Amino acid sequence: MPEQQPNQPSNDEQKKLPHPVFDWRPLLFTAVLFISYYMATLGGATAPEAIAYSAFKEMVSHGQVSSITLKGKEIRGAKIGATSQKDARYFTSMLPDIDDPTLIPLLEQHHVEIVAKSTESPLWLTMIISIVPWILIFALFAYSNRALQSRMGGNGGGMFGFSKSKAKLYEKMDIGITFDEVAGLESAKIDLREVIEYLIQPEKFRKLGASLPRGILMMGPPGTGKTLLAKATAAEAGVPFFSVSGSEFIEMFVGVGASRVRDMFSEAREKSPSLIFIDEIDSVGRVRGTGMGGGNDEREQTLNQILAEMDGFSTDDAVVVLAATNRPDVLDPALMRPGRFDRKVTLELPQKKARLKILGVHSRKKPIANDVDLEHYAARTIGYSGADLENFVNEAALHAARFNKQEIDHEDFEYAHDKIMLGSVGQEIINNDDKKRIAYHEAGHAITALLSPNSDAVTKITIVPRGRSLGMTETLPSEDRVNYLQDFLEERLRILLGGRCAEKLALGQVSTGAADDLKQCTRLARRMVTQWGMNEKLGPVNFPQHEEHPFLGMEMAQPKDFSDHTARLIDEEVQQLVSRSEKETSQLLSDNRTLLDILANALLEQETLEHDEIKKVLGDHYPMA
Ligand code: ADP
Ligand code: ZN
Repeated sequence: MPEQQPNQPSNDEQKKLPHPVFDWRPLLFTAVLFISYYMATLGGATAPEAIAYSAFKEMVSHGQVSSITLKGKEIRGAKIGATSQKDARYFTSMLPDIDDPTLIPLLEQHHVEIVAKSTESPLWLTMIISIVPWILIFALFAYSNRALQSRMGGNGGGMFGFSKSKAKLYEKMDIGITFDEVAGLESAKIDLREVIEYLIQPEKFRKLGASLPRGILMMGPPGTGKTLLAKATAAEAGVPFFSVSGSEFIEMFVGVGASRVRDMFSEAREKSPSLIFIDEIDSVGRVRGTGMGGGNDEREQTLNQILAEMDGFSTDDAVVVLAATNRPDVLDPALMRPGRFDRKVTLELPQKKARLKILGVHSRKKPIANDVDLEHYAARTIGYSGADLENFVNEAALHAARFNKQEIDHEDFEYAHDKIMLGSVGQEIINNDDKKRIAYHEAGHAITALLSPNSDAVTKITIVPRGRSLGMTETLPSEDRVNYLQDFLEERLRILLGGRCAEKLALGQVSTGAADDLKQCTRLARRMVTQWGMNEKLGPVNFPQHEEHPFLGMEMAQPKDFSDHTARLIDEEVQQLVSRSEKETSQLLSDNRTLLDILANALLEQETLEHDEIKKVLGDHYPMA
């Protein structure tokens, strides 16, 4: 059973970072020019044979040479009968530095035609040769300057346009997002309403001497609507909105970021009242002096400049700075001092009700068929961010469009759900043995779940391979749980092992297909033992383990502060818990072998079964869990 975490990156349109790509075109152009120039000076495709001066004279005295061309010290000669320049009978030689008084008489004696040519290149060639390099150098310079500038986002100002602020300015009318379009996030909206009031009527606050909000830090996982909320705040207040990402301040020259900050703030002050939004503040606002993340000087200068600008707000400036981050843990505490980002707004992943609202917002302008129950999908999308939900509705719409439908229906939503949760449909399994094994595996998960009284309902089983998984059994939590009982967790262990146990029971052997299940199962068992005090022997003691970052899903190292003896005991207890669960699951499945067979066969036939179909297939056998 794969994880139910959506792993879709949030589609954040503010994150288009310019890529500093080296352009090879000017260099290539130069190279081609030089090569062609050298080819031209070499002349002709086949170089004539070069012979010694003595050999040349020998040939003349034997009457083999018809004509020569002299150009400086260079001799170019043709043997008798040579016709074209490419003729192999052409040759070259060099005159010695010492004058040879016998040469001319010898040539005349043998009636060799003598042509003398000036050693100077024609004027036009000389000019080109001397000018071309300059043109090239100039072109290269102009080109790189322009490339640099466009990367810097400056408009005009040449080499001196570096510091121009990169912030995108949106005037009030071009935002077009209101709080209506932001679903859920009620507490964040309440905090921001105050900011809006202040931006609309700064004088009112000033007269009363109320201390004014300057910086607000929005914290939350990616895609929870931080950017959206900042835009909506500006739009509701009807003020200009400057949007910039922290990473955009960092360029290759120290000091550029700081001067950009200065530019942006002075522009915002000019347009006051106005709102500045700094996305990914953590990219400049990490704890200073840790030596993390490279380019420290630049980062620190930029951060210091932001702080200095915020400290320097006078009471006349009605400029509010909103900053967003999904790593509040790494921020420099100096950012959070009074007068800076002293207010915090936390955005959580949406709960079911909020998810329904977000789905509503994003399907508002789309034709949705009657057989689509958005509430059902709100329940099934635990862990989805606002951006994931938007993506979900969009995938459904794309699917409907692909099949030329007038409305987006149940099938499209199912497709989108599976795609986001599990990835695109993979290669079809042709091998019947494999197919049978996968069917039993998934049926094993499903039957174990159906027979678990505390467990969530099974919403879907499929043996269509997707992404990394060969099949999937999806269960639906009836609500977003905040607390899990031990019974529920033990059932969960059994459900995870159900696939493997069913394979062993029905086909006699286990396979590699359960690797992911075992990983999840072991992890859960370990947490039960070490963190939730659910083991008799170890008791209600917390043993720090590697923990996952709350937002980013990466492991964070934790110091181990228990003895090796305890570590061994933990391993033993985890192992026993999992093994015991396996035995129980095997027993459960062999007691209900009929159910397992019916479901596996139905899966082989239909590949995907949704909740109602499972009920129908199992009929009277369907356990009333
Ligand atoms: P963040 O800045 O937190 O990474 P964004 O504000 O860029 O996230 O959100 C990305 C998209 O997800 C938004 O453009 C919006 O369409 C959608 N979205 C996120 N949260 C919500 C919400 N609460 N209501 C409606 N749409 C949302
Ligand atoms: Zn499995």
